Amino acid sequence: MGNALVWFRRDLRLADNPALCAALDAGLTPVPVYIHDEPAGDWPLGAASAWWLHHSLMELDGNLRALGSRLCIARGDSEAELLRLRELFDASHVFWNRVYEPHSMQRDARIKTGLRNRGLAASSFNGQLLREPRELLKADGTPYRVFTPFWKALQKSGPVRSPLPAPRSLPAPPPAESDGPGPEQLALLPAIPWYRAFPDHWQPGETGAGDALQQFCADRLSDYPDDRDLPALPGTSRLSAHLHFGELSPQQAWHAVQQEAATRTQPGLLAASESWLRQLAWREFGHHLLYHFPDTTDQPMDARFAAFPWRTGYDADLQRWQRGQTGIPIVDAGMRELWESGWMHNRVRMITASLLTKNLLIPWQEGARWFWDTLVDADLANNTLGWQWTAGCGVDAAPYFRIFNPVRQGERFDPDGSYIRRWVPELSGLPAEWIHRPWSAPREVLDGAAVVLGDNYPEPIVDLQQSRAHALTIWDSVKNAAR
Ligand SMILES: Cc1cc2nc3c(=O)[nH]c(=O)nc-3n(C[C@H](O)[C@H](O)[C@H](O)COP(=O)(O)OP(=O)(O)OC[C@H]3O[C@@H](n4cnc5c(N)ncnc54)[C@H](O)[C@@H]3O)c2cc1C
Repeated sequence: MGNALVWFRRDLRLADNPALCAALDAGLTPVPVYIHDEPAGDWPLGAASAWWLHHSLMELDGNLRALGSRLCIARGDSEAELLRLRELFDASHVFWNRVYEPHSMQRDARIKTGLRNRGLAASSFNGQLLREPRELLKADGTPYRVFTPFWKALQKSGPVRSPLPAPRSLPAPPPAESDGPGPEQLALLPAIPWYRAFPDHWQPGETGAGDALQQFCADRLSDYPDDRDLPALPGTSRLSAHLHFGELSPQQAWHAVQQEAATRTQPGLLAASESWLRQLAWREFGHHLLYHFPDTTDQPMDARFAAFPWRTGYDADLQRWQRGQTGIPIVDAGMRELWESGWMHNRVRMITASLLTKNLLIPWQEGARWFWDTLVDADLANNTLGWQWTAGCGVDAAPYFRIFNPVRQGERFDPDGSYIRRWVPELSGLPAEWIHRPWSAPREVLDGAAVVLGDNYPEPIVDLQQSRAHALTIWDSVKNAAR
């Protein structure tokens, strides 16, 4: 029996892992390897993601050991390390599941050619998406730019393949002088321990992913369409980081949700499952766009926005936004939720991003970078899509004139103010009527709630009406510019 390196990257799971299965199906002994390498050009691993990765690697190693194998870790240039590990383990094959970040894709293509030129068998698989981004194209052969037709094409593209079973046991890789550093020696845990509360919110790794999926299907799926926009409730799946790190495949999620709807005869469950699968398709759409338009991680998709007159000298305002000190309660609640838990509710992501880009006229790339560093689910495809969409410069963009009014959004989606009370405790004494706009509250109401604006809670960072009108004028002039 020969040996095959199975190169783990963003597929940190044993179930439904096509690369691992391919090695086993070929009758080879899989040598699971993880190489800590960041190709120049891609966005470097954010701090919150590094925290997650640390724990996910620990769990993967533990799960491999429980089945008789182990994770071999290396650091450095991926190609050089693969060649070294191939020698070390006398491997004839290298298998991996594909990733779609532009520079990683270029690197992987180079590696595949290099390995094959050296006589090694190198094969890659789709372990991350329902469909390869190149599989779904419009009738004229060009990529989709609008979500709804993309979603329809995805639905028509045939059944989603069934998840592959997890191996029950694994042959031990050959002994080696050294299996490399342990996950803890990669020094992934950020130097500033702001992430102390993360373990209260998350369980990184395949077990946590499976538990979260099961819990969502059992407890929250049926109410998803009603609850998904309410940030005070745990109404969504919170699977995004698990999906990003590949602790769960989209196929596993797809089938679990469909099965739940098929086996439980409950009114509305079918519609609820469709509503959730549609969100999962946004993830596919994000990857489709990143694959076909790789420059959009930094450049606006709509070229007219390349010359957008963003403000300069905005550092102080950017910092207030990052720290949740804008004086606009729902924005501050979201930014503090992000800092404390590494995650922010989708509706609030849109509201905070809209305030930054439209009311404050701060470039969307600044917001994208902050999210990138602080989100445990930071994902180049989804983050780029979310920011370009909110800034109105992407494909399928929210109409540019859609400037979220954070007060109205708060009143609609957090009507009793419980989301604000949780994350902005200094406002917790305010009645629901005023909690989303403390600056309009009568003096005695503020006094009664012990809120002193400009003292224990900031005055609003910007006049919402005036800044909206100003933004509309600018967006109008950019949109009307010749293409
Ligand atoms: C400005 C901005 C930045 C964002 N950055 C990221 C990011 O870095 N990483 C990330 O995974 N998502 C990002 N999103 C999308 C979305 O907010 C999160 O995927 C979602 O909040 C995750 O929570 P959940 O798993 O409970 O979602 P659920 O509502 O349970 O959705 C299920 C899954 O579908 C996918 N999904 C849902 N909504 C979207 C969406 N709008 N775009 C793409 N995929 C989606 C996610 O994988 C999610 O886990 C961003 C959105 C905005 C507006």
